[in-house]
Amino acid sequence: MTFDYDLFVIGGGSGGVRAARIAASEYHARVGLAEESRMGGTCVIRGCVPKKLMIFASQAGALAHEARGYGWQSADAGPFDWLMFRHKLDAELTRLEGAYTGGLVAAGVDIHKQRAHLHDAHTVELADGRRVTAKHILIAAGGRPQLPGIEGEELGMISDDLFLMEKVPGRVLVVGGGFIACEFATILQGLGAHTTLSYRGDAVLRGFDGDMRRNATEQLRVIGVELRLPSTPTKLEKRDGGILVTYDDGATDQYDAVMFATGRTPHTKGLGLEQAGVKLGQKGEVVVDEWSQSSVPSIFAVGDVTDRVNLTPVAIREGHSFADTVFGAKPRKVDHRLYGAAVYIRPHEVASIGLTEEEAAAQGPHEVYEASFRPMRSLFAGSDARAVMKLLVDAGTHKVTGCHIFGPEAGEMIQLVAIPMGMCATKADFDAAIAVHPTLAEELVTMRRPTRHIGGAHPDKTVGSA
Ligand code: NDP
Repeated sequence: MTFDYDLFVIGGGSGGVRAARIAASEYHARVGLAEESRMGGTCVIRGCVPKKLMIFASQAGALAHEARGYGWQSADAGPFDWLMFRHKLDAELTRLEGAYTGGLVAAGVDIHKQRAHLHDAHTVELADGRRVTAKHILIAAGGRPQLPGIEGEELGMISDDLFLMEKVPGRVLVVGGGFIACEFATILQGLGAHTTLSYRGDAVLRGFDGDMRRNATEQLRVIGVELRLPSTPTKLEKRDGGILVTYDDGATDQYDAVMFATGRTPHTKGLGLEQAGVKLGQKGEVVVDEWSQSSVPSIFAVGDVTDRVNLTPVAIREGHSFADTVFGAKPRKVDHRLYGAAVYIRPHEVASIGLTEEEAAAQGPHEVYEASFRPMRSLFAGSDARAVMKLLVDAGTHKVTGCHIFGPEAGEMIQLVAIPMGMCATKADFDAAIAVHPTLAEELVTMRRPTRHIGGAHPDKTVGSA
């Protein structure tokens, strides 16, 4: 049977674009790609990129404050011009969208700027009614924000809407305690909004190391975010030009805007997956094997639509591995066990890789090396903020199994720690590196004695404490 394409990709986000480009440019596959919105997907258009630029924008006040600590008498960020920033942001996103589109065109990919859904295992139907056939189909449709299902929730915003606001709200409520809630609470507070964060747990960032969670929660409080923990909004109502929020304890409060950051779900609705025989999981995700292959052999899926590790670089790696495997005769699986992640809160970021202290303790005897200190730069400017660095070391093999950093530019540091950890480095390998002084990162190679032992009896100790 002959097909119109060797590969048809549904979704022009990070994973889909990488797979299409590699299949076409490296392996000369005939590739088509459909994207219903802007090329680049969540990360480029509505996520990582605009969010990080907003983080930079929101720090001007803090930088001006620090400059005063260094003797700059007139340092003042002045008023913030949101519309000017938004205009520049739009221009930057348009540039990036052009770069993504240009890369695909240069690789010879046919772009269909419209929605597509599956007709059968080898056929895709486009919104204009045309049907195209492909030997392989890749679902890379991403995820969508999920609302909590409470009365009046349509009055609230999701993170996509934040980039399109006409002005920075005076009083804003952020609901949730994950990546997006923490980052946007930091941004909104930094831009001058009086920000409240309502989370149903005791400390934000569930799933992260306990110390990192406590530090992140405390930092949100220190920068001025009003925390309502634990609490859950139960109702939103329009009131006097604003939004009246009722909480589960019966309390009410009024805000100019409410933003829900209560998780994301795989975007599989209306894609014709069930009709084509593709097995979906409980959250609606495409169930795939280690090769990203679905229950239908010709259909593969990568990225958030599979709900494995929902991070852009993971989706890119999955897309690239798929193209290498299927079109390049270079079978490559993605190892989802070890990946770094960073939460861009300020002034200190949270960045992690590997086991948390809680997971390490559950796995067996570990040594914990921890340093807590006031970084030179902020200390001199008059801040008491403490950075924390933690290494978890398997007491038997001496391998570093986890690293957690709460500090300025922690994301940059964890990226480099990912290299030795990927090579199964031991604590002695870390110690062998000569420190670069004076830096924050030198703490990672100068922690000589364990702060505590966890996970039961240690091989070289009679008693361990968990
Ligand atoms: P997360 O899953 O990280 O957090 C969702 C939050 O909402 C949790 O605190 C959760 O509580 C809470 N929640 C869920 N349902 C409800 C409910 N019904 N009522 C009240 N609270 C609720 O999702 P995000 O939306 O923050 O982020 C989505 C994805 O985007 C993440 O998987 C992340 O990987 C990715 N991302 C990555 C970033 C980065 O790398 N820096 C930045 C932004 C996003 P609980 O903890 O109790 O479940």
